Amino acid sequence: MRYYDKLIFELSKPGRKGWSLKDSFCGGAAAPAAPVPSGLCRQTPLGLPEVSEVDVVRHYTNLSQMNFGVDTGFYPLGSCTMKYNPKINEEISTLFDDIHPLQPESTVGGVKEVYEKMDSCLAAITGMKHFTFLPCAGAHGELTGLMLMKEYHISRGDTARTKVIVPDSAHGTNPASAAVCGFEIIVVKSGANGLVDVESLKPLLGPDIAGIMMTNPNTLGLFEREIREIAALVHGCGGLLYYDGANMNPLLGMVRPGDMGFDIMHLNLHKTFSTPHGGGGPGSGPVGVAEALVPLLGKPHVSGFHGNAAVILKAYAYILTLGREHISMAGKLATLNANYIKESLKDVYKLPIPTVCKHEFVFDGLLNDGAREGVAGATTLDVAKRLLDFGFHAPTIYFPLLFHQALMIEPTETESKEILDEFIEVMRKIAAEAAEDPDILHQAPHDTPIGRPDETAAARNPILQYR
Ligand SMILES: *Cc1c(COP(=O)(O)O)cnc(C)c1O
Repeated sequence: MRYYDKLIFELSKPGRKGWSLKDSFCGGAAAPAAPVPSGLCRQTPLGLPEVSEVDVVRHYTNLSQMNFGVDTGFYPLGSCTMKYNPKINEEISTLFDDIHPLQPESTVGGVKEVYEKMDSCLAAITGMKHFTFLPCAGAHGELTGLMLMKEYHISRGDTARTKVIVPDSAHGTNPASAAVCGFEIIVVKSGANGLVDVESLKPLLGPDIAGIMMTNPNTLGLFEREIREIAALVHGCGGLLYYDGANMNPLLGMVRPGDMGFDIMHLNLHKTFSTPHGGGGPGSGPVGVAEALVPLLGKPHVSGFHGNAAVILKAYAYILTLGREHISMAGKLATLNANYIKESLKDVYKLPIPTVCKHEFVFDGLLNDGAREGVAGATTLDVAKRLLDFGFHAPTIYFPLLFHQALMIEPTETESKEILDEFIEVMRKIAAEAAEDPDILHQAPHDTPIGRPDETAAARNPILQYR
């Protein structure tokens, strides 16, 4: 084991330290003790590792290299919009570093202005009337939006609407949020073209339907062409339409959920609008509503602890950087990049729905997985693991659930043609390996710090403590 592969606690040597300041500096030994009541002071020393500065720097730098990030390479994880986030927006977001949620309102006029301007930017982009910025994630926004949906019906004395319709292609958070909100979930099927089947939807509609949750383009990266008819049908039965706007990137400046007929929606500022994500936060999932629901948003729309202010500021900087005239380029290039990869690989990977896609698309495994008598074929998991050996993050796999070997690729607009070409070349090489000797893939990845953990155990029982 290399020295720096050890845990930082194993590097610890009594008395070693990462600083040396004169006693007279910053208080030092002669400074009066901090006025903490003795009952609150700890009795035993804090068990911190004692290490030198260079050990600390190498420890954290090495740790950062054990993971894969969008700053180290191409990250085509479908439904996640892992685009490059301009560093200037990180710098700008530090403007909000020293404000406090409990500061008097009179001292945060500039912050309020950012929120108000973001409200109008997002209203212009989406066709909603107003937004609340309190939710801190997409799923948090879904729950907020569904609570608004519930309240809307109840406020009109319409208490029989207990069901929410969700397409079978939906992101898992949709039925989960609806269930947490106390709704019964009704699944509507997709047709062979991957779009919501209007004929299957019709018999589901009635006085017990609170609404439908949809994302458009859907998780297959396909635009729901019949959205206008779907909206008319759902509104016709007294229900509302919820738009999962986590996938808004390809539509920026092109089409607006409000114009499609949606009443409530959330956006993932941390996907589309310049906040690094994937590590569990910080995020922002503002919820927008159509005019009829504005009274339910509560006033002021920004209250409590204002959501994640720095994420909102980054998104504002991002939107202003692109401006009204350039914002649609993001979606157009994301769409072009997705179609370029799809067309370049469809002769070696199964493309179940061979149409033009939006920002992402789904393969259903390899065309030739190399399975023969006594030899197991390569699966989508094998392809995903093998990609890591070539320095690419894996696409999303086994989602959506419509296909058994789903491989969901979303390149985003921030990748150059050179990177896309390299990815395509590697994907073709992996397909060739699968056809010739699938065992190379069964063992992959060969070059990463961790190969194939038991993913359920790793997620459910992670070992987070040093013993
Ligand atoms: C990412 C995503 C979500 C959930 O967003 P979180 O911020 O992770 O809670 C919901 N729906 C879709 C379509 C998504 O891609």
